[in-house]
Parts: sequence; structure tokens; C-alpha cells
Amino acid sequence: WAKAQGKGRLAVFDEERNARQVARYRLAGSMPEALRHGQFFVHYQPIVEFSERRAVCAEALVRWRHPELGVLGPGHFIGLAEDSGLIVELGRWVLEEACRQAVAWAHAAPDGHTPLVSVNLAARQCQDDRLPGQVERILAETGLPPDRLQLELTESAVMDDHGKPLRVLWELSSMGVRLSIDDFGTGYSNLSYLRSLPVNGLKLDRSFVHGLGAAGLATDPVELRIVAALVQLGRALGLTVTAEGVETELQARRLEELGCDLGQGYLFGPPSAPGPTGPVQL
Ligand code: C2E
Ligand code: MG
Ligand code: MG
Ligand code: MG
Repeated sequence: WAKAQGKGRLAVFDEERNARQVARYRLAGSMPEALRHGQFFVHYQPIVEFSERRAVCAEALVRWRHPELGVLGPGHFIGLAEDSGLIVELGRWVLEEACRQAVAWAHAAPDGHTPLVSVNLAARQCQDDRLPGQVERILAETGLPPDRLQLELTESAVMDDHGKPLRVLWELSSMGVRLSIDDFGTGYSNLSYLRSLPVNGLKLDRSFVHGLGAAGLATDPVELRIVAALVQLGRALGLTVTAEGVETELQARRLEELGCDLGQGYLFGPPSAPGPTGPVQL
């Protein structure tokens, strides 16, 4: 009896899993056409300096306006695009779009206070030898100076199979493009690894920022010491440290006290359609 029931449950489970797989395949299969038909768009989230609360950078975050499913966040499709390989094309499109936007902001802002633009790269893009050439071409075509572009790479994406940093990083950094490690602290990192990379910045994962005093919570003293150590580490390496997921004034105050350079989060502004002269800030 138990055996039969177990079997039945397994069959239901298999069917559900199967249906999910089919839905994933269909979604993945419709991506190339979605890209051709302009269903993807980019929102920008401000990255601000704590003291002045001024946006010095804008992170480009891709979305998909799906004709049946509505607006999908990257969590729904970036993984699929990585698996299918479409991420190379989609990523190139996001990069072009973001660079064009940054140039438009530069033209629109009279005071020259235009934000950098920061673009996420998938592991697959970093491992592609053609990446530096593509970036160079996009910068030339859009007219964006290389030092106005930042690329965000995760810890795991920047190493080759032997644990050595990828050569494309040096090519990009020698072009003058800024490189930043995204979601820092959640992957595999150590000091010698960090020192060996030609990067300019670290983005502390929002899981660390949470403990500094998320909505309704006090600052956790242990978490505070951990973030203090991470900020110190970044500064010791001469890197710009950005905190992700800043949602409350308490978190912002703690981060500023700790000497964290920049912050990003709903407190300063959610990802939104681009404003006329920069990302939209609250
Ligand atoms: P990420 O690079 O760590 O981007 C930050 C994510 O945190 C964004 O989610 C943003 O909406 C969210 N966020 C920002 N502020 C807050 C906050 O105060 N609280 C909380 N709880 N969340 C906040 P989103 O837009 O869903 O993007 C998720 C991830 O998808 C990104 O994480 C990035 O890894 C990836 N992604 C987005 N666009 C691209 C892209 O063009 N290419 C690639 N390869 N990956 C992308
Ligand atoms: Mg990012
Ligand atoms: Mg991040
Ligand atoms: Mg993150």
C-alpha cells in the first residue's frame, strides 16, 4: 500500500517536473525571437555616494516584456539564456543599450555630472575570447569613453578551470574599462585571488547589508563586524566598495560610518526606466 502510494506520488511529481521543463524549454525557445522583436528592455538603478546622496553610477538590469506572461525579471530567463548560449547575444544587446543610454545622459547633463553605467556579465560572456573586441566595438560605435563603463562579474565567473583569472580581464582593464566583483562574499574568494585580479571595485552582497538594520531590525553587532572587515579588506586592496540592497537609513548610516564608498538599494531608488539625465532617484 505504502509502496503504491509512494509510486503515485512519484508519478505526480514527475508530471509536475515535466510540465515545468516543457515551460522552460518553450520560454528558452522563444527568446531569440523576443530579442529580435524588441521585447527586452533595460532598467537602471542608481548607485550613490553616501555623503552627497548623488548617483555616480547606474546599474543596467534587463527585463523581458513577455506578450503572455507580462514583465519577467532576469531571475526567470538569464539562467535559460546561459544554458542555450543566447546570453552572448542578449548580453551584447544589453551592453549596447546601456552604453547608448550613458552617452544620452552625458549629452543631456550640462554640468558634466553624468553617472557611469554598470553592466552585468554572465560567466559565459567572460569566458568568450571575443568579449574584449565586442566591448571595444560598442564603445567606438556609441562614443562612450571606456572609463565610463563598468562591468560586473561574479567571483566564480572570473576564473578559468585551473583557478587562474581569465585573460579577458586584463584586456578589458587595459582598455580602461572598470571591473567590479558582484555579489562579493557569496562565492569562493581569498586574498591572493583578489590581489591577482585587475579589478577596481567590490559590490558587497546584500545578504551582508541585511544585518546592519533591515526594516524593523536593529544592527546585529556580529554582522556589523563582518561588514566592517569586508569594507576594510576592499579598501586595503585599493578598491571602491559598494553595498548592495540598502533599504533603510540605519543601514546607510552604518555603511557610511564604516567607510563604505557607495550604496545601492531601494532606499536610493529601485531599478526604473531611465530618467532624462540619469537614473531615477528617490
Ligand atoms: P545583481 O547584479 O546583484 O543586481 C541587483 C539585484 O538586486 C537586482 O535584481 C535589483 O533589483 C535587486 N535590488 C536592488 N536593490 C535592492 C534592495 O534594496 N533590496 C532588495 N531586496 N533587492 C534589491 P534583478 O533586477 O531582479 O536582477 C537580478 C540579477 O540578475 C542581478 O543581480 C544580475 O546578477 C542578473 N542580471 C540582471 N541583468 C543582467 C544582464 O543584463 N546580464 C546578466 N548576465 N545578468 C543580469
Ligand atoms: Mg550586478
Ligand atoms: Mg549584485
Ligand atoms: Mg546581488
